[in-house]
Amino acid sequence: MSPARRNDWHALSESEVADLLDTESEQGLSADEAKQRLDQVGPNALTQKQDQNPFLLFLQQFNQPLVYILLGASLITALLQEWVDSGVIFGVVLVNAVIGFLQESKAMKAIRALSQAMVSEATVIRDGLKRRLSSAELVPGDIVVLQSGDKVPADIRLVRSRELQIDESALTGESVPVEKQVDAVAKDCVLADRSNMAYGSTLVTYGTATGVVVATGDRSEIGRINELIATAEVLATPLTRRIGQFSHMLLRVILALAAFTFLIGILRGESWIEMFMAAVALAVGAIPEGLPAALTITLAIGVGKMAKRHAIIRKLPAVETLGSTTIICSDKTGTLTQNQMTVQEIHAAGLKLSVSGVGYAPEGSFSLDGNDYPPQNHPALLECLKAGLLCNDSQLVKTDEGWRIEGDPTEGALITSAHKAGLTLDSLLQSLPRIDAIPFESQHQYMATLHQRADGKRLVYLKGSVESLIKRCANVLDETGAIAELDQARCHREVESMAANGMRVLAFAVAELADDQAQISHADLVEGLTFIGLQGMIDPPRPEAVEAVSACQSAGISVKMITGDHAVTAAAIAQEIGLEGKRLENGRLAAVTGHELAEMSDEQVEHLVGHIAVFARVAPEQKLRLVEAMQRRGDVVAMTGDGVNDAPALRRADIGVAMGITGTEVSKEAADMVLTNDNFASIRAAVEEGRGVYDNLIKFITWTLPTNLGEGLVILTAIFAGLSLPILPVQILWINMSTAVFLGLMLAFEPKEPGIMERPPRDPQSNILSGGLIMRILLVGFLLLVGAYGLFEWELAQGESELVARTVTVNVFVFGELFYLFNCRSLRYSVFKLGFFSNPLLLVGVAGMILLQLFYTYSPMMNAAFGSAPIGAAEWLNILSVSFGIYAVIGIEKWWLRHKLATSSIKPEAKPESKPQKQSC
Ligand code: ADP
Ligand code: MG
Repeated sequence: MSPARRNDWHALSESEVADLLDTESEQGLSADEAKQRLDQVGPNALTQKQDQNPFLLFLQQFNQPLVYILLGASLITALLQEWVDSGVIFGVVLVNAVIGFLQESKAMKAIRALSQAMVSEATVIRDGLKRRLSSAELVPGDIVVLQSGDKVPADIRLVRSRELQIDESALTGESVPVEKQVDAVAKDCVLADRSNMAYGSTLVTYGTATGVVVATGDRSEIGRINELIATAEVLATPLTRRIGQFSHMLLRVILALAAFTFLIGILRGESWIEMFMAAVALAVGAIPEGLPAALTITLAIGVGKMAKRHAIIRKLPAVETLGSTTIICSDKTGTLTQNQMTVQEIHAAGLKLSVSGVGYAPEGSFSLDGNDYPPQNHPALLECLKAGLLCNDSQLVKTDEGWRIEGDPTEGALITSAHKAGLTLDSLLQSLPRIDAIPFESQHQYMATLHQRADGKRLVYLKGSVESLIKRCANVLDETGAIAELDQARCHREVESMAANGMRVLAFAVAELADDQAQISHADLVEGLTFIGLQGMIDPPRPEAVEAVSACQSAGISVKMITGDHAVTAAAIAQEIGLEGKRLENGRLAAVTGHELAEMSDEQVEHLVGHIAVFARVAPEQKLRLVEAMQRRGDVVAMTGDGVNDAPALRRADIGVAMGITGTEVSKEAADMVLTNDNFASIRAAVEEGRGVYDNLIKFITWTLPTNLGEGLVILTAIFAGLSLPILPVQILWINMSTAVFLGLMLAFEPKEPGIMERPPRDPQSNILSGGLIMRILLVGFLLLVGAYGLFEWELAQGESELVARTVTVNVFVFGELFYLFNCRSLRYSVFKLGFFSNPLLLVGVAGMILLQLFYTYSPMMNAAFGSAPIGAAEWLNILSVSFGIYAVIGIEKWWLRHKLATSSIKPEAKPESKPQKQSC
């Protein structure tokens, strides 16, 4: 087969398409043929758009106001024939660019690797069998089955479709889903009108369909426009943006200040070269140039840690938001529970039967009041089991590890219970072949299949929630299998009694339809059905979810269960898991149903979400309403979802969380975070990491700003006092760069602080830096000024050269920062509480910094380049005393703050009335 490259597939008939692609819509390709084609056309993946050209990324590092200043300074010093200075400044610019480049590309790579770690899958028919494959393995001619929630894996000519609707916004920009059909359309139709085609990367929002793959990878429509799609990663969060704005503002202030000091100096008759160098020194010193890059790296490290704990961040700002989450709304099935269903109880024709056995192994028996009860004696029971087996899209498979389910665990449990009675699907289908089906969608809460009986009659079997089925039933099967009158109230009582034990209950019904009925729709099933019975299954809580819920609750985060399941079942499981919320008089957790929500005003819902922990029978659309109500109360909401209809709520939530295993592609696309193991415990882990990352960001800021402040103050003082500069521009550059890499960066590896999940969530409205931290920064900046300037003047007074005195100043800054780094390891606790060795990388960095500083001080090469000079033991003693002094003062200040906090227990950082935009740093 030559991969025919044409774009008129929509104008061809189904058989023409099949012929051209040499395929068959029932059997699909053979595995061998598919492999051959794969070798020929390559994997179904878009060629990664050349990410930002590395050279351009490198050049971009020069596109910063600070660098302009430095380049200007380098040029001017060169014109003045100060070759060493000029060379060093230029060298520093280069090194700075290289470091920025390395950091940025590393962060981008880390984040991109994550987005690629999520492979999407497709349902394909090969050798006549349906199977799930990685989308990358698709080839032209493959037969693909689409279902609501799927991402279309390639360009597909549809051959069968049931109410298929597709969101083609990825391709056309039009976000209203379009309806599809299977007939050929005119050749000159534009893309948006080719209603018999499904294009790669678009999203199935409703219905099901089957089609032939006609183009894959770069040959697909999305592949052709791939070049145009900007996939540039945005390495930004609200915090980094605010810091960016802050740096910009600072830059302007400092440039103005530098210009001003320059003028003052000139007016005072100082040499303009010296004044120029002073202005440059001020600008270079006071601008926190390394800040944005350090924040990005810290975020990237955090994202990596979260991925290791099964939470993949899709949108970077989520990392930060996680730390201030106040409510987590979680699904029940699979997230809080194990999604390991086992039928334990069956109600049919007034009898309540128990089923023994665990898991999916079809080994177990039926009993009535403790006595063995062969199901063969009971036609209604058999019919109930039969309905569970026929109205089913999943498969039970035996593997080496035991019995496993392919498909929906709820359906798996029904297959197992039927097998326990000796029923098998193959033999049932022989007498009752399936003709059509309505798949389960959570908004309808039921599934139906149409079958043909030997006498030609058409039967439809239904399974679903009791509420959705019972209202459609007119009567019930009795013990003999005959039709009797249905007692709805009694049926509801039976459901309640099962649900109170935490069981998930499915109801079953059957109906006879006209002989010629070839398809079923919801309209055929509105009334007149016959009720068969109920099957109740247990789904035990995940043990780790129990622990995680309690951790979240002690971290001041409330956990809410939002489920499509029955209210009583939901409340029972929520209770087992330990959710905190309003309780009824009988001590049980109160649950509110979607039905009740629909009757309430927005104000009532807002009031409700404050104290109710369980929301049951909630339609996906109602999740959006719940999120909005919580957000109006000022909560920061994380919300899980897996279905197509969950997408709006996921988008609206502060953190939309999708399920990696059971979630639809649509939900993953809408989410900020994807759980690779569908487990609630991973959300808790992400929150914990999120708090840690935010802490580390703040630590870096608190650590780095005093240096800039100190350096700026030293220069300003020198200029205004008319004294010689205690520190030169190249030396300032040296300090800022070497300490940022060897010291500051190590804070990003700081482990989470003790008690990180015991304090309340961060108020997202609060200032980035609390008043206390601002005071600390000012204090350290001032101490650096006094220490550096004091020792500089002291050395001069001792008759030492300016070279020596400046070397002392540089070392005061470096060692001051080095000691202060230990203060910054935690914003609250002392090093003693954290453990001196708990961040080994930091100690490595510190050792490296010390060696580097010895090199700076004693190597003739560095002496020549940076104007440094060897210093003696007395100097070192002074330097270390000042540095240790800073450490001690801040240690006392921290102790005092802790003490004050412990006695006042007032939340220190909350200032809810201030708006985020106006916040200062
Ligand atoms: P959950 O929040 O527990 O995942 P769902 O929305 O999946 O809830 O299911 C809601 C209800 O729909 C269930 O309580 C059950 O009665 C019914 N149901 C669930 N799965 C199926 C299915 N595969 N076929 C028919 N009915 C189902
Ligand atoms: Mg579900």
